[in-house]
Amino acid sequence: MSDRPDFRLEHSELRGDDEFAEFTNVDLPYYSDWRGSFEKLAWATDDEALARARADVAIVGAPFDEGVSSRPGARFGPRAIRMAPTTWASDSAWSIQLDTEPYTHLTVVDAGDAPVVPTRPERALRVIHQKVSQVASHGAIPIVLGGDHSITYPSAAAVSRNAWPSSVGVLHFDAHADTGADQWGNLYAHGQPMRRLIEEGWVAGPNFVQIGLRGYWPDRETFAWMRERGFRWHTMVEIEDRGAEAVVGDAIAEALDGADRIYLSVDIDVVDPGMAPGTGTPESGGLLARELLRAVRQIVGAVELAGMDVVEVSPPFDTSEVTAILAHRVVMEAITALAAKRA
Ligand code: MN
Ligand code: MN
Repeated sequence: MSDRPDFRLEHSELRGDDEFAEFTNVDLPYYSDWRGSFEKLAWATDDEALARARADVAIVGAPFDEGVSSRPGARFGPRAIRMAPTTWASDSAWSIQLDTEPYTHLTVVDAGDAPVVPTRPERALRVIHQKVSQVASHGAIPIVLGGDHSITYPSAAAVSRNAWPSSVGVLHFDAHADTGADQWGNLYAHGQPMRRLIEEGWVAGPNFVQIGLRGYWPDRETFAWMRERGFRWHTMVEIEDRGAEAVVGDAIAEALDGADRIYLSVDIDVVDPGMAPGTGTPESGGLLARELLRAVRQIVGAVELAGMDVVEVSPPFDTSEVTAILAHRVVMEAITALAAKRA
């Protein structure tokens, strides 16, 4: 009877079973040993953990898509963005763009998802508000992963409420103004959040600045309402004429003209559907991915960021994960730009 055979890598120095221990303590790639947090960062999902972490930034998931008017799927956005492919060791990211290692200058945690359940849209908005409030009350800048754009209403309201008596302006990237009065009678759908934020006084109209608008919605009366409230907006045509950097520079000055801090809301459909196909309401002729990433660096470098969201990533409509990757990198650019200021 022969002995049980050994597994032998005859042509390698890695032979035998006894060296296995040296492999157990490596930084595994993003898809392995998956525990689900953004960048495999530490979880801090309750008050105790958030108090202990004293984080500068906390990721919050808002897996909600019952506000969509067209194609659903954004409820899977937080998972897809967290799972977006990376090539770097999760704890030693380094930005070529900003020559900065974000995690050496900032403490970033993943606060987990707001406890959204399906079929209860108003409950969802309530728990998203509570979750973002919780993070902000611990001094962390919330970066919220949507979810459809409805989530900006509870999220920006939470940030504005926590910043009080400081005032918060909004920089809003989108193909759409999202200032509709209602959507088939729903006041809280993804075409309405910006109107609710203004009507309830969470943001002053003149400090609400929109970038990238194009297409055929909303209608003329809605733009009249926006003009009445002092909204400012920069269309895609203006960006084509003047360049994104000049337009974003003006938008920053407008949003801060009377406000102290900024909430940045990025609807991924501001980017051309060719570069961000995984979204519910695509509109042709948008920003380049690189223009959006540059704009995020420009904004976060220039303002005091109070909160942020990246919304409308719909993985069922995505191709090769390109939209999820872009959303992930938008978050990375913001984190790294915050770190660069701290460095
Ligand atoms: Mn939107
Ligand atoms: Mn949109």
